[in-house]
Amino acid sequence: MTETWGQFKSFDEKKFEALDPEFTKKVSELLGGQDLAACFQCAKCSAGCPVSDKVNIQIHEVMRMLLFGLPEVLETDMIWLCTTCYTCQERCPQGIDITDILFGLKNMAFKKGIAPQGYIAARQSFYDMGRLYEPTDWEREDLELEDVPELNVDDTKKILDKTGLMKLEEVE
Ligand code: SF4
Ligand code: SF4
Repeated sequence: MTETWGQFKSFDEKKFEALDPEFTKKVSELLGGQDLAACFQCAKCSAGCPVSDKVNIQIHEVMRMLLFGLPEVLETDMIWLCTTCYTCQERCPQGIDITDILFGLKNMAFKKGIAPQGYIAARQSFYDMGRLYEPTDWEREDLELEDVPELNVDDTKKILDKTGLMKLEEVE
């Protein structure tokens, strides 16, 4: 698994050896992916994206990579730093459901073991304790709150086992 999102490499000077039409086909089967080919690279999506100055590749470039069939797109931090604000989707003159495609790409990346460590830890914490993270004592003390009660996670574990949350990497 990838340690943190910060370890995703820049695409500067990266050479792509092969195009994979099968990858494009898979993406076109994702929710929103059916309109992928309508993208004419106006970059209006990137112009409104609130994380555009934080990512190593812009959202309109992600769209281009998907069309070209470059699976390396799954290693871009855009996929994980996207706030799912839907601004790009609202702005797209072609009506492409860009954010929905990104949700699908997140799933594809996770199944391949490409995910920031924080997401992986949050999943484990949710499974084990029913919480995404463990609140620290001092935070609660500052607010004069009681200790966080233990949650009974027997039922939620059953649901998560049935839905396969902890085995996502095994499902391709
Ligand atoms: S706004 Fe739509 S058409 Fe323009 S680059 Fe983005 S996805 Fe493509
Ligand atoms: S949904 Fe994601 S990619 Fe689209 S504008 Fe918001 S942060 Fe950027």
